[in-house]
Amino acid sequence: MASNTTYEHDVIVVGAGGAGLRAAIAAQEAGADVAIVSKLHPVRSHTGAAEGGINAAIREGDSWEDHAYDTMKGSDYLGDAPAIEALCRESPKETIQLEHWGMAFSREEDGTVSQRPFGGLSFPRTTYAGAETGHQLLHTMYEQVVKRGIEVYDEWHVMNLAVTDEDDPTDRSCHGVVGYEIRSGEIAGFRARDGVILATGGMGQVFDHTTNAVANTGDGVAMAYRAGVPMEDMEFIQFHPTTLPSTGVLISEGVRGEGGILYNGEGERFMFEHGYANNDGELASRDVVARAELTEVNEGRGIEDEYVHLDMRHLGEDRILDRLENILHLAEDFEGVDGLEEPMPVKPGQHYAMGGIETNEYGQTCVDGLYAVGECACASVHGANRLGGNALPELIVFGKLAGRHAAGEEFDEPEIETGKRGDHEDADFDAPVTLGEREPGSDAGPADASAAADGGEAVTDPDAVLEVAVDREIEHVEELLETDGVNHAEIRSAVQETMTANVNVFREEEGLKEALVDLREARDRYADVGVSDPSRTFNTDLLHTLETRNIIDIAEALTMGALARNEFRGAHWRKENQIRDDENWLKHTLISWNDGDPDLWYRPVILEGENKRYEPKVRSY
Ligand SMILES: Cc1cc2nc3c(=O)[nH]c(=O)nc-3n(C[C@H](O)[C@H](O)[C@H](O)COP(=O)(O)OP(=O)(O)OC[C@H]3O[C@@H](n4cnc5c(N)ncnc54)[C@H](O)[C@@H]3O)c2cc1C
Repeated sequence: MASNTTYEHDVIVVGAGGAGLRAAIAAQEAGADVAIVSKLHPVRSHTGAAEGGINAAIREGDSWEDHAYDTMKGSDYLGDAPAIEALCRESPKETIQLEHWGMAFSREEDGTVSQRPFGGLSFPRTTYAGAETGHQLLHTMYEQVVKRGIEVYDEWHVMNLAVTDEDDPTDRSCHGVVGYEIRSGEIAGFRARDGVILATGGMGQVFDHTTNAVANTGDGVAMAYRAGVPMEDMEFIQFHPTTLPSTGVLISEGVRGEGGILYNGEGERFMFEHGYANNDGELASRDVVARAELTEVNEGRGIEDEYVHLDMRHLGEDRILDRLENILHLAEDFEGVDGLEEPMPVKPGQHYAMGGIETNEYGQTCVDGLYAVGECACASVHGANRLGGNALPELIVFGKLAGRHAAGEEFDEPEIETGKRGDHEDADFDAPVTLGEREPGSDAGPADASAAADGGEAVTDPDAVLEVAVDREIEHVEELLETDGVNHAEIRSAVQETMTANVNVFREEEGLKEALVDLREARDRYADVGVSDPSRTFNTDLLHTLETRNIIDIAEALTMGALARNEFRGAHWRKENQIRDDENWLKHTLISWNDGDPDLWYRPVILEGENKRYEPKVRSY
């Protein structure tokens, strides 16, 4: 299992979804020797599941400024203006770049790229490729990666980062990653001469009803967290209003964008009839629609006490087959429903993490040489609620910037704000459970992603830092394989169940505290985890065990942030205080590792854009 091999490149990109591929292409264009390391083959990455589209102000009558306003409003004023403006300004250019690379966008009769309405947008600015936009995007960029000869180490699971050991995380440097090759069991170091870019995607597996794939376990977020980088705004989780009840499979917002209608069990078009969104109805922002659906169910107007109906029959077979054909297959295959003949059952499900690894617009984290982009990162564009169609542009805009920056390119475009921002405000938060009383060694993972040789002497030489990190992971895996302990699946299910029960669309203090107690117990049980499959190759038992420690770390941070934030903002609803409280809560939540005992702190939201200030207003649709 051990290896003396070290793979070495200028830039190592961890993850081969839309964000990772875009970052790799940009780094290669900037002259770097770049490699991608991914636990999945690139085209199996979850970006391929994206259905609805990419927001880009490319049409006359629209503007990036309007897109920025919609995004800030959608974020419930928790997005940072510089990041939002960068996203909206650059998205048209990057979307057109995809088109030039051959992405098969849906088109109008005159040949122009089609755009459709999406929730929370003041203009129909969502470009799309049928209901399989992500699949097209992923294949288009993978072609570019192959064409450029970028090296891809696929089916390599990255276990940890190789980071120096200074006390203050902002003094640390990242020199590479440690990977486990799934087909051989080899554990090897990947040395990055210039930078490591994390692009590891979402963390939907923290919940048990999710649109995310089983591989979405938040690995990058947890690795960066253990290396000292704060997680930002983790309590803001998007619950998508239209997922299939039995599996969590997504029914795209594109259905409502094309005119699909939501009905409750009494046949009422409840978004209007019960006044949830008198102007935009089904096309209100996702958090608004998800709460409306659950309210209908909770007040007895749901169907089978669980879901509502999404009807697209009136759109007609031709339009459905032209623009939403994929939806017909999903409804038929996963729910046994023919969308041409019947309404589809839908309910809210976990879909997206607005928070993640704290970065600036270049993907830089507080650790030198460590970057993050895509869903695992939080450049603060989505704030408290992401607008549909705003994640894919984030991949291509910030992926490109991070790739170029990591490759050492000088920037000649307008300066985008970098570095640490705002004042550090300590949280006035008493942990309700015995978080401070953990048994030593009961943490879910080595608090020691950073390098210190045995004996505690600091290691700073980059090769030695990597060697220490590799040795530590080899030891960790050997230990897991030799322990006949608790099975990861039991722990993972317990985490998912408590998160879905207590940290869902509607949140209250009692439930959040209960979740923290359950998570503490899960963390303690993980200290006795073992891997029953002793094989060295294709050992999914081992891989899922490694992922489970990430899930626990993320669930705990998310729940702490949710418990502390006693207000209702965007996707975060609190029973005890059902109003947005700008006086006290116009600030980002940050959580730092602190030897396994999460430290909560805050920094202000940046509302000053390039030419204007985004003044918080009442958010209605
Ligand atoms: C069903 C669905 C539909 C969506 N539709 C839309 C839409 O229409 N429009 C929109 O804007 N957004 C949409 N989103 C959101 C958007 O698709 C995602 O946020 C985005 O694709 C994530 O891309 P990513 O590159 O960050 O991560 P991913 O595409 O998930 O890629 C993550 C990569 O990281 C790798 N990886 C993870 N962990 C490790 C590890 N430990 N070691 C090595 N490699 C690792 C994986 O192998 C993978 O290659 C949708 C999301 C879902 C779930």
